[in-house]
Amino acid sequence: MFPNTFTQIVLRERPVADILPDTFESKTKAFDELHVGQNQALVQVTYLSLDPAMRGWIRDTRSYLPPVKIGEVMRSGGLGVVVSVGEGSKFRKGDLVYGMFGASARTLVLFPSLVLMLCAGWTEYAVANDKSMEKISPPPGATSLDFLNTLGMTGMTAYFGLHHVGQLKAGETLVVSGAAGAVGSLVCQLGKKAGARVIGIAGTPDKCSWLEGDLGVDKALNYKSPTFRQDFVEAVGYLDVYFDNVGGEILELALSRLNRHARIVLCGGISAYNDPQPKGIKGHLNIVSQRAKMQGFVVFDYAEQYAVAVKEIAAGLADGSIKSKFHIVEGLQNAPSALPMLYSGANVGKLVVKVSDEPSISSKL
Ligand code: NDP
Repeated sequence: MFPNTFTQIVLRERPVADILPDTFESKTKAFDELHVGQNQALVQVTYLSLDPAMRGWIRDTRSYLPPVKIGEVMRSGGLGVVVSVGEGSKFRKGDLVYGMFGASARTLVLFPSLVLMLCAGWTEYAVANDKSMEKISPPPGATSLDFLNTLGMTGMTAYFGLHHVGQLKAGETLVVSGAAGAVGSLVCQLGKKAGARVIGIAGTPDKCSWLEGDLGVDKALNYKSPTFRQDFVEAVGYLDVYFDNVGGEILELALSRLNRHARIVLCGGISAYNDPQPKGIKGHLNIVSQRAKMQGFVVFDYAEQYAVAVKEIAAGLADGSIKSKFHIVEGLQNAPSALPMLYSGANVGKLVVKVSDEPSISSKL
């Protein structure tokens, strides 16, 4: 039985710096406003992914995706269950899907690889075009939630950033910032699998213990410790690959410790995401003297090759050699207050919002 109304969360106002309580607002919509047309399906959203990049998506600036408009449902990755299908739809009731439920048609035309990004939007229900969703079935050792983490955009970012951009080789020294986060913790594990010496950087002693004790990194460093710079120099020496999730002073420190032909993978720069006037980078001339390479990347550019990475990571989940951690916040209404946790470091592992239990669909049509 469907409800009379459902909830969506829309962008109310663009923040200047930090996300504020009134950045987003909740809207109650009448359920009968949802019309399922040809080649469409109605999806009940179960989980949403919260990602640092969302701060960029609500900034009115040129980027790899168009900004979310004021009044639009907040874009996000997510999972859901098909609860009703339109004529000609390739889906069946009960299918577990990820898709571009909240995205405008224009966004999909411009960025078709987003289909593989699991985009749902901050909504309890959505009508989605068939082309904007993928049916998923978790491989052995995995759950559907893994498609928001190691088997989804997060995992693809870690895999292609490390292997294709970083070109990591066995015996090299890999340094990872944001190491206890979703992307970083997988980069650390893939780095160990590739035979590298891995040093992870995180913001609390507990996160450092998890990295060393459970994920097997060679050394984890707390960047909030007063002795961090000295600890970094002692533990790292010089590095071959720096996988950067945070930018700022940690990037500058890494740039001062490059081996010849080092690779700096610019995955993200979370330390500057809420900064209205981000600063430039100091120490970039080390890139010249060490003949190093610094390259940014966007995961969607590797969409054609995702299957290779999914297969490898799924094998690691199945044999237990790849571990993942989730930080689950209950309730769609808590998504706006949960998002800032990413910028304060309050999340431990992949941050997701649970919107609903998977509905039990009795008859598969
Ligand atoms: P995480 O799970 O890593 O969460 C963010 C973490 O960043 C926090 O837990 C916090 O951990 C750390 N952090 C926050 N502020 C700072 C700061 N000022 N200095 C240092 N660390 C900080 O998020 P994700 O794994 O989802 O994302 C990691 C990075 O990957 C982000 O930069 C994101 O934008 C990027 N990304 C890039 C993609 C691409 O295509 N290039 C695709 C997907 C993600 P702590 O307690 O350790 O401070």
